[in-house]
Amino acid sequence: MLERPRAWRVRGAALRIAGGLAVAPLLALVPPHAPWALGALGVGVLLARRRWQEDYTLVDLEGACPVCGAALRPPRGRLQHPHPVTCEACHHQATLRVDGLDSPPGPSSG
Ligand SMILES: [Zn+2]
Repeated sequence: MLERPRAWRVRGAALRIAGGLAVAPLLALVPPHAPWALGALGVGVLLARRRWQEDYTLVDLEGACPVCGAALRPPRGRLQHPHPVTCEACHHQATLRVDGLDSPPGPSSG
């Protein structure tokens, strides 16, 4: 688990918004124009929001599925509170809880 500093989250969110703003005019050239541009802006905002909320990144997990015993290998990504982990073998959805993260501090805790 990696703790992500505020500067990392701000930079990542800004890059995603800038990417959406850069792509939107190009996509606006394609008929029907406005939906593509609005879609690019919306995707940029959604990706920026996800980055802004990434207080911690799940890097690796060692554990077994409580149903079938297969090794759990969640993809690397934003650690949620609690974090759903799906077993690839039986598709059981387990929940990962990290002590002290159930009520994270900061503005993105909601
Ligand atoms: Zn399983």
